[in-house]
Amino acid sequence: MHSELRHLKQKMFLIVSIDTEEDMPNWRPQKTTTTNNILCLPRLQKLFRKYSIAPTYLVNQPVLENDASVNVIRQLAQDEKCEIGAHLHSWNTPPLSEEEEQGQATYLSNQSLARKKEKLKNFTKVFQQKLGFLPTSYRAGRYGFCSQSAMILSELGYTIDSSIAPLMDFGADNGPNFRGHTLQPFWLKTQCHRKLLELPVTIDLVHRFPTQFPELYFQIPDWTKIKGVFHRLNFARLLWLRPTTYTVQEMKQLADHVLTRLQIPVINIMFHSSEICPGASPYNTTEQDVKEFFVRLETIFSYLMPQKKLHSVTLSEFASLCAQDEGLDIFGKKLLYREL
Ligand SMILES: [Zn+2]
Repeated sequence: MHSELRHLKQKMFLIVSIDTEEDMPNWRPQKTTTTNNILCLPRLQKLFRKYSIAPTYLVNQPVLENDASVNVIRQLAQDEKCEIGAHLHSWNTPPLSEEEEQGQATYLSNQSLARKKEKLKNFTKVFQQKLGFLPTSYRAGRYGFCSQSAMILSELGYTIDSSIAPLMDFGADNGPNFRGHTLQPFWLKTQCHRKLLELPVTIDLVHRFPTQFPELYFQIPDWTKIKGVFHRLNFARLLWLRPTTYTVQEMKQLADHVLTRLQIPVINIMFHSSEICPGASPYNTTEQDVKEFFVRLETIFSYLMPQKKLHSVTLSEFASLCAQDEGLDIFGKKLLYREL
């Protein structure tokens, strides 16, 4: 066994993956694209340093094309323990479709195969030109991921995707449906011979009922408000490890559920770079909101790192650890190959 793996066996892993993108104060494409929030990243990186966390910044095209923001990213890549990966908003990554020219927020998964290929290829080229290396980790904007994207990413040399939002169905907005997915990582089965790991964002329904319960839960229409009652009574909660919308208590509950009850030794916290800058996202509009966000972040980090003793790795580091013996050393069983 590889000596590094021998050391990491029995360990549990923390991944922090950040969609590092333009300012979106109303969560919609803006007429004029700005990337001011990127200037706030050094403040966030300071917190990561304090907890020995190596984050993965998944950067998109507007961030790379702005001199001030790409310089921040270059500095992080050069000076800090972190990974710079790729994030793609279809609506601002050329070539644009007609609806994208008109300012619509779209999903890459809904574009033609030819356009998907062109966008991903062009973007990867821009990434390399601006930063001097190729990205190996990826998350699609709005979770717009599909089997064609997986194949193209493999061909371009990416080793890990983290676009699946388990149990979420974005169908009402014409987006993908991940209801049948769990947070268990797997190898994406593609036509390409290269390995591509899927590490979903950590989301699960934490409940006190028999295992078939989720099927019933997702049939309950939202208008009945029954799901809200389940949540309040702590009978069943659909939780994300996302410090924006969830309390520290909820995030701890989900982390314990994943690590202890499901015995999945990896958790993947996600948020957006814009959330750490007042007014750059709809969530944290004032400095006070941002301060509170940092407190939640720090509280969950201090729970997961010193207390639970998780080991922080970047997305691509995690993929290469899994590749060594198909995941056997980390999960105690080989990870499955699955089609999307
Ligand atoms: Zn995004």
